[in-house]
Amino acid sequence: ALNRSPAFSKLIVVFAVSSGGIVAYADAKSDHVAESSQVSGKKKLVVLGTGWAGMSFLKNVDASLYDVQVVSPRNYFAFTPLLPSVTCGTVEPRSIVEPIRNIVKKNGGVKFWEAECFNVDPVKKKVHCRSNIGTNRDGNGEFTVDYDYLVIALGAKPNTFNTPGVVEHCHFLKEVEDAQKIRRSVMNCFEKACLPNLSEEERRKNLHFVIVGGGPTGVEFAAELHDFVTKDLAKLYPTLKDLVRISVVEAGEHILTMFDKRITKFAEEKFQRDGIEVKTNFRVVKVTDKAITMTNAATGEINVPYGMAVWSTGIGTRPVILDFMKQVGQANRRVLATDEWLRVCNCDGIYALGDCATISQRKVMEDISEIFRVADVDRSGTLTLKEIKDVLDDICERYPQVELYLKSKQMKNFVDLLRDSEGNPLKESKELDIEEFKKALVHVDSQVKMLPATAQVAAQQGNYLAQCFNKMKICEEYPEGPLRIRGSGRHRFRPFRYKHLGQFAPLGGEQTAAQLPGDWISIGHSTQWLWYSIYASKQVSWRTRLLVIGDWTRRFIFGRDSSCI
Ligand code: FAD
Repeated sequence: ALNRSPAFSKLIVVFAVSSGGIVAYADAKSDHVAESSQVSGKKKLVVLGTGWAGMSFLKNVDASLYDVQVVSPRNYFAFTPLLPSVTCGTVEPRSIVEPIRNIVKKNGGVKFWEAECFNVDPVKKKVHCRSNIGTNRDGNGEFTVDYDYLVIALGAKPNTFNTPGVVEHCHFLKEVEDAQKIRRSVMNCFEKACLPNLSEEERRKNLHFVIVGGGPTGVEFAAELHDFVTKDLAKLYPTLKDLVRISVVEAGEHILTMFDKRITKFAEEKFQRDGIEVKTNFRVVKVTDKAITMTNAATGEINVPYGMAVWSTGIGTRPVILDFMKQVGQANRRVLATDEWLRVCNCDGIYALGDCATISQRKVMEDISEIFRVADVDRSGTLTLKEIKDVLDDICERYPQVELYLKSKQMKNFVDLLRDSEGNPLKESKELDIEEFKKALVHVDSQVKMLPATAQVAAQQGNYLAQCFNKMKICEEYPEGPLRIRGSGRHRFRPFRYKHLGQFAPLGGEQTAAQLPGDWISIGHSTQWLWYSIYASKQVSWRTRLLVIGDWTRRFIFGRDSSCI
């Protein structure tokens, strides 16, 4: 087959031997093979992204079953929960990254292309990529990869809410490079404030560190910075230590709102004791090189001079995902909608996981209605108690998110319906009005929440999807599949089930707050040690584990490094 790329007039020659045969792309102009993949009957599985979701998928998928190709603009995986520690030199950047080739080398045959995907074509089943290395001497660096299955794990980008001046003047804390820039910038602020001929006001301005966003990342960075200043820099810059100011600006009423109220209260009180200013109910409307403009119902608009600002107000959608969503009829969404098997709605062979996707709430509610409809077919609004119990089981099986709810409060109300006028349990064959039963489910939709955008969710999804792909072949041989879900025929795999393992909020001064499963709260120094142990154990390799532990030990003994490199 011959194909001409209209934009760059390059000849792409594709040698295809049957479906999934030998495929090679040749750049006719340079007579240079830009990319080749030898496949013998294996389906092409393309993975976009090497973050938490992509890495977890690649680590667990059996690459001998597919022709696996990975596309990502960075050739490493970064352990993002330790990024705030990199901003102040508690941990070195190289200690938290693992080359993706190291991760996949045990999983032989995985091919990695260091490039950015700029377009997904779901009709022709191709992804269009562009190399981001150097000036691309061999052309424009663009190439195309065919897929049979596509796993989209592109993550998200920082969300600025289109606030003017943010991109130009604020730091973000999303990538390793961001953390390195912040580290240099903190030191530059101190060195600048040391220069002669500066007024005290100018020194104060240079040493005003503003963090916009009181979520876990912003709060952890503020705590790290406070530790760095009080424990290390105060000794090196004794004349400046009293001029330093750290402010956290939050549009809501409190910081850390996703945590239990006890943790929020503890964090706010601790920050107050430490002298970290928490400005709640303030919304930033503009940032210039000199000041941050923010508004509040009581004070109106105020201009706050600053030396360095970090913007950490949550995540937005990457342009390539926005473009893809338009193509697949999801234009007005924030993230890609998938079903509970992580398949992108309205697409064939495309899966999405991690921060760029979520299980569609609307679809879950539609499916619950469908389960009722199927159960009620030809029954004119009545079901036996046994059938109602089966319907409940189906919903729980299929939607783990609503399972707990159905089995607790709502079920309690419902069980009341399942008794006769004398309070005796009804017989299983007793017919009931389906409308009564539906009424008991009225609050189910509020339980179908979007999964949080965390590494925990992304990693679990990656592992889940890899297991599905590993079992795909055997399931094709036995099409009945291991699991049957009533109402929609048979499905080969159980739906994705998220298991929440708890979350941490490091608050500085060797104190951490933790909200563990079962809403168990733990705050203080001992929780900090729990944090150290869990984060060391969660490293992707022994190499990074030892490097991180080494960095923590170095910091305990020698403190943090304050060089501006
Ligand atoms: P990412 O990990 O962001 O990976 C996206 C991948 O896609 C990257 O490899 C990227 O290079 C690649 N990519 C981007 N664009 C393209 C393109 N056009 N083409 C190809 N590839 C592309 N979560 C927790 O659970 N606990 C924590 O303590 C925690 N702390 C955090 C601290 C910080 C500072 C940050 C920023 C996040 C933290 N998170 C934490 C959230 C967690 O990092 C994210 O939820 C997680 O990274 C999402 O994984 P992902 O694979 O979807 O995306």
